[in-house]
Amino acid sequence: MMQIFIPLNFLGFVYREMKGALANIEKMFSLLVVKPAVADQSEAPKLQVSEGRIEFEQVRFGYKDNREILCGVSFSVLPCQKVAIVGASGAGKSTLFKLLFRFYDAQEGSIRIDGQDIRTVTQESLRRAIGVVPQDAVLFNQSIKENVRYGRVDATDEDVMAAIQHAHLSNFVEQLPQGMDTLVGERGLKLSGGEKQRVAIARALLKKPPIMIFDEATSSLDSRSERSIVASLQEIAREQTTLVIAHRLSTVVDADTILVMDQGKVVEQGSHSQLLEQEGHYAMLWQMQQQERTDDVEVAMP
Ligand code: ADP
Ligand code: MG
Repeated sequence: MMQIFIPLNFLGFVYREMKGALANIEKMFSLLVVKPAVADQSEAPKLQVSEGRIEFEQVRFGYKDNREILCGVSFSVLPCQKVAIVGASGAGKSTLFKLLFRFYDAQEGSIRIDGQDIRTVTQESLRRAIGVVPQDAVLFNQSIKENVRYGRVDATDEDVMAAIQHAHLSNFVEQLPQGMDTLVGERGLKLSGGEKQRVAIARALLKKPPIMIFDEATSSLDSRSERSIVASLQEIAREQTTLVIAHRLSTVVDADTILVMDQGKVVEQGSHSQLLEQEGHYAMLWQMQQQERTDDVEVAMP
């Protein structure tokens, strides 16, 4: 019985926290990590983001001792670059982002932002610098406007509107009985997966952090909406360091660098054309997706 009571209590705690004055959406994610896996060093300074350069160096990590998920991953993302990460389900793509966000610490190696090891700075300053559009966006029982405002609590209505527009959500919102003030979530209007993702994208756009992560953020959109959102993300990506995980390779063609992951390793990296020339994993995936020509297939690595 104890085993049942503890999580329920914990969920109650999370719920109360959400209802209270929750400053931002990332705080909620950190609450959902049941075990506090990381702690700030005493008197840790704040992260100072000057350019937005990200470096992973020989990062090794496993959620449990007996299974390594990342087996020595190294890569760099230059300031304002757009880097895409592709690879089969379970390859370790989302895990990379969880480490960058410091939900967990790597067992070996280091992750640096503008030269600062992320373990040496406060988690608060780290998370403030990174915006995430996750695979499964969570909506609160509030208006669309308030749901978007979680991105930046002091944003004006005009800023919120602009973010909604950039996330290609305005047509949808205009059709609602109370527009931006329509209640959504469990006890309000239920949104489709794609609509929820757009709310999450609008939140991230409002936050406008120097580093932005999209984890298959456009995966539940149809390919036309995906293209239009990807186009607006490209505008933003010019000023920000952007990491995109994508199943559909058509959305990563324009990335500065594409990292191909397989079983916890980066097995190839380069631009789309360089990778095609290598005739390796990526070229094979590309060919498979071209042949299939279906938009909603998951990337399957051979
Ligand atoms: P991807 O995003 O590439 O699909 P993930 O990074 O989510 O892959 O997962 C990589 C591996 O880590 C998978 O085998 C997955 O089952 C495992 N994994 C992910 N999250 C956890 C967790 N919280 N605890 C234990 N194993 C996990
Ligand atoms: Mg994933």
